[in-house]
Amino acid sequence: MIPYGKHTLLEQDIDAVVDVLKNQFLTQGSQVPLFEQELCRYTGAQSAVAVNSGTSGLHIACLAAGVKPGDTVWTVPISFAASANCARYCGASVDFVDIDPHTRNLNVSALVDKLHLAAAEHTLPKVIVVVHFTGSSNDMAAIAAITEPFNITLIEDAAHALGASDPQGHKVGACKYSAMTVLSFHPVKSITSAEGGAVLTNDDELAALLRRYASHGITREPGMLGDEHADEPWFYAQFELGYNYRLSDLHAALGRSQLAHIDEFIARRRALAENYHQALADLPLILPQPDANGAWHLYMVELTAHDRTDVFNALRARGIGVNVHYIPIHWHPYYQQLGFKRGQFPQSEAYYNRALTLPLYPGLSADNQNEVIQQLKEVLV
Ligand SMILES: *Cc1c(COP(=O)(O)O)cnc(C)c1O
Repeated sequence: MIPYGKHTLLEQDIDAVVDVLKNQFLTQGSQVPLFEQELCRYTGAQSAVAVNSGTSGLHIACLAAGVKPGDTVWTVPISFAASANCARYCGASVDFVDIDPHTRNLNVSALVDKLHLAAAEHTLPKVIVVVHFTGSSNDMAAIAAITEPFNITLIEDAAHALGASDPQGHKVGACKYSAMTVLSFHPVKSITSAEGGAVLTNDDELAALLRRYASHGITREPGMLGDEHADEPWFYAQFELGYNYRLSDLHAALGRSQLAHIDEFIARRRALAENYHQALADLPLILPQPDANGAWHLYMVELTAHDRTDVFNALRARGIGVNVHYIPIHWHPYYQQLGFKRGQFPQSEAYYNRALTLPLYPGLSADNQNEVIQQLKEVLV
């Protein structure tokens, strides 16, 4: 079976991890701070806080933004559930903004309408989690301009988008128009640390807060401990109820080694996406919008003349590991129990009903991609 996604591990990645095992600290050594510096250099962000998953990163980003019970967080229905769950961890309510059927990202005009309604009803969100779906950046400048008058904090869920740039040419993660950007290093994402993630920010206060939330709420920063502890090098203090969301040095070493290859990985993903655009242009499919600056985490087609279940099963039977991204978040029983209804976000649901994810990852060979294209053509006749 040709999978829909797969990590690419190189010999030097394995060596980097073995070196930590043989010679270094397993956790809280040199690798995590170096990984954080390298993420800053790559994205242009001022600070990076490495964490043990993208989900942990979304949680502490919401906490650092001050999300608490009584607040509301908005995101889109077409994403992984973690984009919404982070608000629930903080006891906040979730609501959704429908997607744009062309970009498949947050629908900017739906956002404007919803904000004006919410302003009138005093139900404005504290935070919007903006998801760069499949690694195509939202127009963050436009979203920031729209949300600024309402004093809303923007958190970018860039789990798909490390390596992408926004329409203005800034690297995703530079946080030009947002308070924080969250990355994931799960094996199917742009680079992997096995499990892992990071929160990027240009705000020193947020960076310090994120660092504490990721490590029990505890700090050893002399500036925070007060002069009376200046000659007590053992002293530390807990200021918030934090978590142990730290990344280990083993994971960071893998992440560092992978980050060194990111340009090749992204170039390969873009080339494969371009091949699909060309080869599938005449089929009864809606193709993703071209994006030369995208990270191309996933490649979804929408079926316009065939039953999705039939096509999915036929391709699986032919050894093509197609998938579907994502079940609309508000369809999950957990969110239905919170009162969401099917039919509430029609563009998201229409997209979901037609969507099919084709294999795309840096290690997908030309032969295997041609096999995917050939089988898809045969199934769609
Ligand atoms: C993968 C993913 C996450 C969660 O990342 P983990 O590292 O697996 O916790 C969050 N949001 C989106 C959109 C994702 O695809």
